Amino acid sequence: MPVCTNCAYPAQHVYTTYKTKSNIRLGVCERCDQFLDPLIEHPDLIILLDLILLKPRVFLHLLFNRGSPPFDADKGVEIPAVERQERRKARIHQDVWKLGYLSVIAETTLRLLPAFTAGGGIAMNQLIRIGSIVLVEGIAQHAVTLCLALSALRLRGWYTMDNEGDKIDEKRRDGRRENFLPSLIPLTILYTSLVPLLLQLLLSIWYTPPPSIHEHLPSTSTTISFLSTLPFKVPPELMELETTLNHAWSRSDRIWVGTRLLGGMSAGFGLRVLLPTKPWETTAIVLAGWLAAAWISQISHILVGS
Ligand SMILES: [Zn+2]
Repeated sequence: MPVCTNCAYPAQHVYTTYKTKSNIRLGVCERCDQFLDPLIEHPDLIILLDLILLKPRVFLHLLFNRGSPPFDADKGVEIPAVERQERRKARIHQDVWKLGYLSVIAETTLRLLPAFTAGGGIAMNQLIRIGSIVLVEGIAQHAVTLCLALSALRLRGWYTMDNEGDKIDEKRRDGRRENFLPSLIPLTILYTSLVPLLLQLLLSIWYTPPPSIHEHLPSTSTTISFLSTLPFKVPPELMELETTLNHAWSRSDRIWVGTRLLGGMSAGFGLRVLLPTKPWETTAIVLAGWLAAAWISQISHILVGS
């Protein structure tokens, strides 16, 4: 069942169609009196912009309403709820696979770009090796995120296996809870990770990333120390920490760091729209997924060589 993109109240249909497909009427939410989902009429570009701007309504639209069948006023026949639910499940799984493939291709391309721009060709076994590492990292990240998020939801009794939920007051109903599916968690992460990935690919047209995030040009001696400019004496341990951080920063691929941070923040935000978890819980869940991916990456590089 779809939900209101303003207050997440569940609805039967987002819109109604009349004689022709172009003649439609948007549904109005019973609780907040707003249109249920104005994004149904918007072109994909606006939806992409909303996704970049992290508007909550776009997540509710993409996760619950996109592709949900309208009410056909002419025929007046409804598709049974069970069949609608099955179709929705199939659509979500299809989206997860599609976006998963896309992100693996984008990430593999990004990792192979340094070798490609350096003028050397890319061997097939290198392509397969990097592609497999990206795939295994992705699986680890999604598996850890999904397990932790489901455990957090079980603990607060928000999600049960039969997805029935407690009977609650009609006006306090939550469409996100009633229509929740575990596969919505990887789907949210995939939606939010694709924008930074594409941004990184676009930026790489103007910017050549270093061969690896672990190797870069030596740091310049002109690094300005902020702590040494302070009017009072700073403990030497702090100065040392600042130097180490400056060194690490100058050796890192800043665009990589920037887009990863953007991806992490977007994922956290997307999950907060979908789930009732607290901000610190969501942050911990996203971070744990990242750490799992980083750990798997280290192990894979040791096993197959980088
Ligand atoms: Zn509403």
